Amino acid sequence: MSNIGKIKLQLEKKLRELTERAEGIDQDLTAPGDDDWEEAAVEAAGDEVLEEIGDITLDEIAQIKQALAQIEAGRYGQCTACGEEISAGRLQALPYATECVKCA
Ligand SMILES: [Zn+2]
Repeated sequence: MSNIGKIKLQLEKKLRELTERAEGIDQDLTAPGDDDWEEAAVEAAGDEVLEEIGDITLDEIAQIKQALAQIEAGRYGQCTACGEEISAGRLQALPYATECVKCA
């Protein structure tokens, strides 16, 4: 299997995990609140944190989808902003990077 094929599988696996996590957070956020106001306040604070995690997760999902689209287009490893090659070290650290260090 080619290197790109492996990266694609990794990204697809990560995408599934993140999608599941995002759906889990969504369910938590829409769960009916408690009547007790004190508990409701604690719950609300927890919801804010969850929303933040949800935002980060959705960001990551969007980035991974973009990286997968780049693979499909045969442009994986190319910066979407300037077209230069993204360094191997950066791709190793962040397999779904779609911009080079300069543009990110
Ligand atoms: Zn660039």
